[in-house]
Amino acid sequence: MSFADLGLIPELQRAVADAGYTEPTPIQRQAIPIVIAGNDVMGGAQTGTGKTAGFTLPLLHRLARHANTSTSPARHQTRALILAPTRELAMQVYESVKTYSKHLPLRATCIYGGVDMNPQIQELRRGIEIVIATPGRLLDHVQQKTINLTQVEMLVLDEADRMLDMGFIPDIKRILALLPASRQSLLFSATFSDEIKKLADQMLKNPQLIEVARRNMVSETITHRVHPVSSGMKRNLLAHLLRHQPDTQALVFVDTKLVCGRLAHFLERHSISADSIHGDKSQQQRTETLEAFKAGKLRVLVATDVAARGIDIDELPYVINYELPHTAEDYVHRIGRTGRAGHQGNAVSLVCTEEKHLLADIQKLIKLEIPQEVVPGFEPDPDFFEAGSRAHRGRRPVEDFDERPRREPRGGREERPPREERAPREDRGARNVVAKRPPRSTIAPDGFDFSKPYVAKPVVLAEGAAPDASPAEAGTPRRGQRPIAFLLGGLGRK
Ligand code: AMP
Repeated sequence: MSFADLGLIPELQRAVADAGYTEPTPIQRQAIPIVIAGNDVMGGAQTGTGKTAGFTLPLLHRLARHANTSTSPARHQTRALILAPTRELAMQVYESVKTYSKHLPLRATCIYGGVDMNPQIQELRRGIEIVIATPGRLLDHVQQKTINLTQVEMLVLDEADRMLDMGFIPDIKRILALLPASRQSLLFSATFSDEIKKLADQMLKNPQLIEVARRNMVSETITHRVHPVSSGMKRNLLAHLLRHQPDTQALVFVDTKLVCGRLAHFLERHSISADSIHGDKSQQQRTETLEAFKAGKLRVLVATDVAARGIDIDELPYVINYELPHTAEDYVHRIGRTGRAGHQGNAVSLVCTEEKHLLADIQKLIKLEIPQEVVPGFEPDPDFFEAGSRAHRGRRPVEDFDERPRREPRGGREERPPREERAPREDRGARNVVAKRPPRSTIAPDGFDFSKPYVAKPVVLAEGAAPDASPAEAGTPRRGQRPIAFLLGGLGRK
């Protein structure tokens, strides 16, 4: 089947051919005719399936009748609204819209928070047919009356489950109330919970269901593996794994901004080019880091869930869960960054005893028992294999990372900071999030702000500071102590 068979107008067929696509993916085959026919859609599709083109192409097809080259803003009313949970995803969708609309005089823009509103206002004043937005910033524009949504004919809610996670549902409902009732609506979600179904009931009229993979299932092109390891040895194991795969890029997921920055520094100090993206970084920093990673200038990108949302890199071979996510659905999202568009991918998770319950939840969700492989020299705590664990005490050589480091780390064990010293999970930039736990102070007794990315400082930290900010790692060993790098086998020595 070709894109022409799906009934797309020639301008879109040309754009698709320019993008190098020869045939539609399964979600595109299903979604395009249904959307062209004007139906509402509830789409169960994971990332990497071609979902974005699946809704963008028929959306452009339907809006093509409004395409015109007039300079009058009145001739360019906002006809389509695409909502995405994060700036990264919004930008990615915007790029797709630009790619596929290149032969049509339709205008698109991307509006998201964290940046000056004025350029967005100028852009909206010109008249824009397709607005791709994050919910919070869209509402800011609504409040300032810098956007008019009364002519919207098509609404797309992308990654609805993520919207829910981020507390955006009240914002979404407010936006729905501002749109004409006679619109066409499409809702996409990689996973479906009862709350998502409730939202779909409110938002969609007689929706057609489209599902390309079983709900909450992960792509079959991904190989999953768990390395049981003690929490204190995780980063050494990560460095070990990466050193033994010198040519591959990896996206490494962590749970907090604090760990994010520190881990990237740690890898850098071990001569593995790495950088981090998380919510404390400016939009410009995040964009530059992503570009460097996409261009292959960075080997490792360490990211929090939110910052990594929407990362679309062709043929990314490895996703590594340095810490398991707290919700099993996030595992599906994370590993959806690899094994895309039919390529083979690897999902590697470093799991310590404290995370066994999270692993059980993930396995239950994806209906898969993930093979476990202990890497010699990086064993987990003995209780990892105690009752309740489905772990296999395997000591088989690790398939891909089959070489031991020349000198295994025996000393210099690092500990995770005590729970109360860890940074809170990333503030997802969401509005209306009801905090489940009272916010903890992120300022240590010595004034160290744990909510900020780690920057090495040549000072001895006060008692109670996180051990992984130890002076040894910062390159200034305490007197009489050997630097951890030395204990690790001379790594980082000049
Ligand atoms: P998505 O699921 O929308 O994030 O898309 C995943 C990747 O698949 C993106 O890199 C797209 O450029 C690519 N893609 C989308 N449609 C096709 C197609 N028909 N043929 C080949 N690649 C595609």
